[in-house]
Amino acid sequence: MNQVIPIEAQLSDVLKRYWGYESFHDLQLLAMTAVLEDRDSLVVLPTGGGKSLCYQAPAMCRDGMAVVVSPLISLMKDQVDALTANGISAAYINSTLSDAEKWNVADRIKSHELKLLYLAPERIGGGGRVLDLLEQGNVSFFAIDEAHCISQWGHDFRPHYRELKLLRDRFPDAGFHAYTATATERVRDDIAQQLGLHEPETLVGNFDRPNLYYRAAKKDNVIGQVKKVVDRHPQGSGIIYCISRKEVEKVTAQIREIGYKAAAYHAGMPDVDRAGNQEAFIKDKIQIIVATVAFGMGIDKPDVRFVIHTGVPKTMENYQQETGRAGRDGLESECHLFYGGNDARIWKMIFSDQPDAVRKISLDSLQTMIDFCHSVDCRHRSLVKHFGQELEKDCETACDVCAGSIEIVKDSQKIGQMILSSVYRQQERYGVTYTARVLKGMQDERIVSNQHDELSTFGLLKEKTLKAIQDWIGQLVGQGFLLQVDDDGFSILKISETGKQLLKGEASPKLIAPVKEDSSGTSRSKASKTRSMEGVEVELFEALRVLRTAKALEKNVPPYVVFGDAALIDMARRFPSSEAKFLEVQGVGQKKCEEYSEDFLAIIRTYCEEKGLPLDVDVDAILAQSEPVEARDPSANSIQSFDLFEQGLSIEVIAKKIGRAKSTTEGYLTDYIRSRKITDPSPWVDASLITQVQEVIEEIRPTRLKLLFLHFEGNIDYTTLRIVSECYRNRDQ
Ligand code: ADP
Repeated sequence: MNQVIPIEAQLSDVLKRYWGYESFHDLQLLAMTAVLEDRDSLVVLPTGGGKSLCYQAPAMCRDGMAVVVSPLISLMKDQVDALTANGISAAYINSTLSDAEKWNVADRIKSHELKLLYLAPERIGGGGRVLDLLEQGNVSFFAIDEAHCISQWGHDFRPHYRELKLLRDRFPDAGFHAYTATATERVRDDIAQQLGLHEPETLVGNFDRPNLYYRAAKKDNVIGQVKKVVDRHPQGSGIIYCISRKEVEKVTAQIREIGYKAAAYHAGMPDVDRAGNQEAFIKDKIQIIVATVAFGMGIDKPDVRFVIHTGVPKTMENYQQETGRAGRDGLESECHLFYGGNDARIWKMIFSDQPDAVRKISLDSLQTMIDFCHSVDCRHRSLVKHFGQELEKDCETACDVCAGSIEIVKDSQKIGQMILSSVYRQQERYGVTYTARVLKGMQDERIVSNQHDELSTFGLLKEKTLKAIQDWIGQLVGQGFLLQVDDDGFSILKISETGKQLLKGEASPKLIAPVKEDSSGTSRSKASKTRSMEGVEVELFEALRVLRTAKALEKNVPPYVVFGDAALIDMARRFPSSEAKFLEVQGVGQKKCEEYSEDFLAIIRTYCEEKGLPLDVDVDAILAQSEPVEARDPSANSIQSFDLFEQGLSIEVIAKKIGRAKSTTEGYLTDYIRSRKITDPSPWVDASLITQVQEVIEEIRPTRLKLLFLHFEGNIDYTTLRIVSECYRNRDQ
């Protein structure tokens, strides 16, 4: 029967029925097809790319049981819970099971009842008892999760993974499929070889994570900086990474002091405390986990809304992996990195125990990471470039550089030349601090005895702070104008080839102005919130979350196993009134519909009745309105609000009256101004602001709103700027 239905149709059906998803993510269909065609495969997708579904969905299309090898014991239970919640028969075997539980799973394998079995790799060696069991189990194929663990070149080598070859020998006809987020070619080749994959279909996804907003800023009262990010997510889960255990303890205490539910996680804590805190985080009993790099491998929490680093991560790979834990569910999330201070020194101390060759690699990797902080290229671009990929275009708004929250010093070239000529006059024999002190004009003993107070560059930058000069030198290194080389254990500065061009005026660096307040860092999150939350009734969303938590407690599973945020958001936008409509919600499959529709629909119905909102909203219409609006016809919804705008009511009041989010109402206002050719913004914007903005529009004639935003250094919000610009344009026409 299965033969006659095309593969894509079978998979789509399964995706909808069990997971409630409408479409495939990038490469998922190809990866699933390889499984169904029994062609070995190696699938490389970033965290959040949807690797699990690549083997879970095909398992449901085939007879027999798929065997998934996974190194993460803590994750197995969550995965099996999630599958069970979707009505899929799944189980796991690892060291946490009692003998009785193991017997039970064995019975289920023998009776061919399971569709998916998760196995810890160490079960495979050691006498082959599990292999005998599998032989009775009608295995459909093997999926090797976190496949980089088989490679010594990967960051997480697990010797037991080498035994997986035994599986291949014992089940020569079954397909083997490897999944990893580690993109380097060396690891990839090693996986294929070690697992003995036969001409695998190799699928490497796009490593960019467009739903993440990246920002790197100098540390400046770091706890204040952290608080600003957390304050924007009063309900959202977040991870704060610190370099040292001591800092983890300190930051945890500080975050608790300002009223957030936070817990610590590091390798120095007793196992039970660590596991307890991890569990509390996954189950939303605490909001924030403050951790060292030790945290994260075993968690699959999809709704982490922010990841903060309070110091430079060790490598770009670490940064990518750690920030990658944000926004797995595809919703907008923020990644903030605060660097500077003693970060480099602490890492160097940690590296000091390493053998020379390893230490050199560590230091180089750290330098690449520091250069990334100082870079003024699109951060999405820099990140994927590090992993050997190119971005077609910059992200435009999803990083601090593109969003314009980084201010470039106007006379960057001149300052760069001053710094380089000082390095040159000091005969390229000194380091960052010394050079900065010469430029600052500090007459300390060493400078005087070297007669460097007589150099023409001495005191050239005396009006700038020492910290700013040091940062700029770091940026010149980061941007390749200076090289930092090791000279007998000291790090000294040399001028590079591009540096020479700078001295001749043929190249220019982009130096970042000393820390300024995080303005547009927040602007993106507002913008993104607008997009993710377009048309969403936030109050209803909160009510649905409460119900979700209650259901999760009842079942003793993490809340996201009941429904992910994406599903709740979709409900709070569609207001489904019936089971059929509930099934249209993203993330609602058959089983969850049967189990939960009654309670969730009841809350939605009551809410809509109270607020006088219509049920079964056409979501496509709402989402279309959130697209960047060029001249287009006003929508039916916006027309409803036009009368209210005509009465000159404020956005807040109108939002309340029409029962829509403020951001949605702002969108309607733009439509209104455009379609009615309104020329006077005064009902919505203060008179003094109008004059200010209009003057600048006249002066710089911005072609894009962003230029206006940048001109005001992010101090005037986009809504205000849009209103004034639209009215101005109407006047001009
Ligand atoms: P990875 O293992 O690659 O990090 P996951 O398999 O954990 O990613 O998937 C990340 C999230 O995306 C999960 O919440 C998953 O349910 C969701 N997801 C995966 N595929 C789809 C899809 N086709 N449509 C909607 N959501 C999906």
